[in-house]
Amino acid sequence: MSDAAGNEVLSAPPAEAVAPKKKSGGAFNRETVLEVQHYTDRLFRFRTTRDPAFRFVNGQFAMIGIEVEGKPLLRAYSMASANYEDDLEFFSIKVPDGPLTSRLQHLKVGDTVLVGRKPTGTLVQSNLLPGKRLYMMSTGTGIAPFSSIIKDPEVYDLYDKLILVHGCRQVSELQYGLDIVAAAKDNEFFGDIVQEKLIHYPTVTREPYVHQGRVTDLIESGKFFDDIGQPPLNPAEDRVMLCGSPGLLKDLVRMLEERGFREGSSGDPASYVIEKAFVET
Ligand SMILES: Cc1cc2nc3c(=O)[nH]c(=O)nc-3n(C[C@H](O)[C@H](O)[C@H](O)COP(=O)(O)OP(=O)(O)OC[C@H]3O[C@@H](n4cnc5c(N)ncnc54)[C@H](O)[C@@H]3O)c2cc1C
Repeated sequence: MSDAAGNEVLSAPPAEAVAPKKKSGGAFNRETVLEVQHYTDRLFRFRTTRDPAFRFVNGQFAMIGIEVEGKPLLRAYSMASANYEDDLEFFSIKVPDGPLTSRLQHLKVGDTVLVGRKPTGTLVQSNLLPGKRLYMMSTGTGIAPFSSIIKDPEVYDLYDKLILVHGCRQVSELQYGLDIVAAAKDNEFFGDIVQEKLIHYPTVTREPYVHQGRVTDLIESGKFFDDIGQPPLNPAEDRVMLCGSPGLLKDLVRMLEERGFREGSSGDPASYVIEKAFVET
């Protein structure tokens, strides 16, 4: 089956065909895959069942994976679904020879995914001081935690504007971000506030597009702020969440610190927080 954009969509079979096989105890919940959608040869998303006892704060990640030869093979993954949704959603890279994703990319409806029971992470509102604008700056799969945050109506009460930045190499890699923003704007309960407050800024580095260039260059030149109609970054008013490649994070952190931003943590909230979208090996 394909969606309107021609992407392959495997939708859920009848409930009885995917009845979750739960095991109690242990560090993981065994969840059942409900839906898989491939965006490109490097990116896909999938939804699974969710144990009702699995609680998390929007923006957090958990260890997830599959069993290989009887042993769990796990990696950190941000929850892309919001904490009030019945299912879990993840947005994933496909690394051709990656131990997990070389296998995970073949997930099918009805397969089992292990989800660690202890979500954690720094991309949470309690690590930030109150502010006027919330910048969520991401590259690649780093948009995943922000997918959960832009679906959180409470976050819209905290800020005048939310700005979601998503940098990728190619236009096709922006599709997940375009889809989640469109869905949030369409939400029957809080779509109006999303339309009023959320600014989405997708940008690509290797193809022509409406916004082009590396996020850092767009900030340095000021073009980014002209495009979104907001003043330059200011630690008195702006709060920033960063999730992307290690290289981009390093450059963005330097730029923020030069402008007087300070990293927040639990117990010491400040003006920015950071999480790696992956670790270089
Ligand atoms: C806090 C945290 C949250 C994460 N959340 C997500 C998420 O929501 N979605 C997701 O796909 N991955 C996420 N990751 C990365 C994830 O943990 C794995 O690295 C990824 O699934 C690949 O696993 P692997 O075993 O196939 O390869 P690994 O051995 O883990 O990685 C091999 C190499 O692939 C590259 N790589 C790994 N992950 C990515 C990625 N996401 N984007 C681009 N290149 C990558 C790196 O160069 C890495 O050295 C997260 C990592 C951290 C630390």
